[in-house]
Amino acid sequence: MTKQTQAFGNKFIGAHVSAAGGVDQAPMRAREIGANAFALFTKNQRQWNAKPLEEETIAAFKSNCEKHGFKSEQILPHDSYLINLGAPEVEKLEKSRAAFIDEMERCRQLGLTLLNFHPGSHLKKLSEKDCLSRIAESINIALEQVPDVIAVIENTAGQGTNLGWRFEHLAQIIEQVEDQSRVGVCLILAIPLPQATICEQWQHAMIPLQSLIKWLGCTI
Ligand SMILES: [Zn+2]
Repeated sequence: MTKQTQAFGNKFIGAHVSAAGGVDQAPMRAREIGANAFALFTKNQRQWNAKPLEEETIAAFKSNCEKHGFKSEQILPHDSYLINLGAPEVEKLEKSRAAFIDEMERCRQLGLTLLNFHPGSHLKKLSEKDCLSRIAESINIALEQVPDVIAVIENTAGQGTNLGWRFEHLAQIIEQVEDQSRVGVCLILAIPLPQATICEQWQHAMIPLQSLIKWLGCTI
């Protein structure tokens, strides 16, 4: 039993750690802060392009994860902030889809099975419904291209025209994903109603969440 497991039981607790100097450095940083889980970017999150991962980096990442007791389910990579899987304009959509597929491929190469991402924005050029369908279509394309990695949709605070601030948005995306065994949700419960009281927040958050969970056929 590792020290982290002793500290947290079966709960995964960690932080987003820096991958400066190479993704293979991230497991050590997580270990240094006593985490038994971590998030990371596998490339610079503010740039479209990144050089492919080198074999040596991939091998070092895998060996450091093993050495420090991190399995793939304890690691949640996050994609680039530039990607908009619901982009209204074809050029931006194609660029986003290609970048997302590249992110998934990087995860697969590193032996990771999850990729966390923000759903997308309609930029006032698409209806919410059409944008959600476009996001689902983007997920379907990526899942078809890259095996083994689960697309994990993160809820958002709804800044600008970002979707994913209602649980129904998440449900509408998921119901249009063809392989639902490869789609997940990352819920940030501090996000949905930042101005509300904790009690109101809980009620507002949990009612649609329960219907989403019911819809997914799961239990808490
Ligand atoms: Zn995020």
